[in-house]
Amino acid sequence: MLSTVLHKSFESAANQLLGFFFPSFCTACKTKLAATEKCVCQSCISKIQIADSERIEREYHRKFSHNNIISAFQSAFVFEKDKELQDILHALKYNNKFLVGKFLGELIASQVGEQVKTWNADMIIPVPLHSLKKAERGYNQAELICKGISKVLFIPTKPNVLKRSRYTLSQTTMTLEERKENVHKAFVLRKKRKITGKRIIIVDDVLTTGATITECARVLKENGAEEVYALSVAIAD
Ligand SMILES: [Zn+2]
Repeated sequence: MLSTVLHKSFESAANQLLGFFFPSFCTACKTKLAATEKCVCQSCISKIQIADSERIEREYHRKFSHNNIISAFQSAFVFEKDKELQDILHALKYNNKFLVGKFLGELIASQVGEQVKTWNADMIIPVPLHSLKKAERGYNQAELICKGISKVLFIPTKPNVLKRSRYTLSQTTMTLEERKENVHKAFVLRKKRKITGKRIIIVDDVLTTGATITECARVLKENGAEEVYALSVAIAD
C-alpha cells in the first residue's frame, strides 16, 4: 500500500518535472497545459457540447430501434463542425494519436460510465478498419478509444473479433441508403472467435447514420452474441 502511494507521488513528481522541461500543449487550442491537465485543457473540454439523455434517446430511436439489433446506445458529445472536438478528433487520426485516443476513451467513460456499467458487457470491440487502411495509418483510432474506456471501466478491449472483409468507400458524402449498401457484408467474424452468449459493446469515434455499427452488430448477433451495444465519442447530424 505504502509503496503504491510512494510510487504514485514519485510518478506525479516525475510528470511535473517532465512538464517543466517538455511542456505539453492543448490538442485543440494549443495553449500550455497545466500540470493537472492531460491532452486537452479544461477550458476546451467545457466548450464541447454534451449529449444529454434526451438527445441520446432520440438518436437511438432514429438510428437503431427499428431493426432490433442494438440493445442500447450511449454517446458523450455532440459533434459540431469547426469546434474543439473536431480538432481533437483530427489529432486522433493524424498526430498525437495514442495519447488522444486514450484520453477520449477515459473522457467518455467518465461521462457515461454509469449507464454503460448497467449493460454488464463482457468485452469492448472497435469498429474495425480494413487491413490496408490500418497498414496505411498504422493503427485503428477506435481501438485506442476502447483502451481508454477499458482502463476506467475494467471491461476488456478485444480488438480482433471482427475484421473488415471489403475495402469500403469513404462515406462522408453518402446518404443513409448508400451507406447501408456500402457497408453491407463488409465485416466478418475472425475464425475461432467464440462470442456465443457474450454481451458486447461496439465503439466508434463519431456516430452519423449508425449504418456501420449496425452492420458490425448484425454479424456479432448472427454468430451468437447475446446483446450488442453501441458507444461513440460523439453524435453527428
Ligand atoms: Zn484548449
